[in-house]
Amino acid sequence: MKLRPTAGPAPVRPQGPPPELSVRDVTVRFAGLTALDAVSFTVAPGSVHALIGPNGAGKSTCFNVLSGLYRPASGQVRLGDAALTGLAPHRIAALGVARTFQNIVTTEGTVADNLMLGRHVLSKAGFAATALRLPAVSREQRAHLDRAREIAELTGLGGHFDTPVGLLSYGDRKRVELARALCLEPRVLLLDEPVAGMNGAERARTAETVDAVRAELGLSVVLVEHDMGLVMRLADEVTVLDFGRRIAHGSPDEIRRHPDVLRAYLGTPGEDPA
Ligand code: ADP
Ligand code: MG
Repeated sequence: MKLRPTAGPAPVRPQGPPPELSVRDVTVRFAGLTALDAVSFTVAPGSVHALIGPNGAGKSTCFNVLSGLYRPASGQVRLGDAALTGLAPHRIAALGVARTFQNIVTTEGTVADNLMLGRHVLSKAGFAATALRLPAVSREQRAHLDRAREIAELTGLGGHFDTPVGLLSYGDRKRVELARALCLEPRVLLLDEPVAGMNGAERARTAETVDAVRAELGLSVVLVEHDMGLVMRLADEVTVLDFGRRIAHGSPDEIRRHPDVLRAYLGTPGEDPA
């Protein structure tokens, strides 16, 4: 199945590869603690860029900066020509950056309801018009529903479109979160531990989903994940954080051999973190 990145009546987004996401010297402090210390990395258009590091390294904080929940003390985040630093989360989402959350798993409504929540941001019709059920609104809603169904199929949820998410397996519920983010038609998708808590089979399915999403939609992915097998399989480039600092950057192969990375994960050099 081939999906067009901008099917349906959503506002037309620029075609072609996504813009480069650039993080420059970003510093975040919480009362005496430097959670990110002048961190820089660049996500090449259409690539999967993994952000790894031990617990407390600053990965989620970095996502909170990228998605506008935290304003950095200093530094810049840019998506192509657009400066994202300091913009509100909804403005950043509108510019094409969508995220999933590490610990949030949806429990309310059907899969369709959850995906339509994602579509709502793109909806041109306001609440009042929707309440009045004007014909143009129904048409727009229907097109959004069609697109939501396509995204459900792409993410392996096609058979569960009208199922209450409370009845789904844990792995499928986590994938609803991923599908909801995709419903924003992002150019850059931020995935915070997308396979956390999943069993081996669910992990493999989610890895296939991320591959499919990237191939079909051509977007860039920033991936925070502890599962090193998954990181090594999916990532083109890896940035390693430890105590808020960038300690290494390179290809998955370079990273798995990097002495500072081995030290950060194991306390001693010489073993493979995977
Ligand atoms: P990771 O996702 O890599 O495990 P986090 O980004 O969640 O790490 O946390 C980095 C550091 O910042 C940790 O020491 C954490 O306790 C701290 N931290 C994160 N968010 C907050 C916050 N809202 N207030 C205070 N400290 C925080
Ligand atoms: Mg985290």
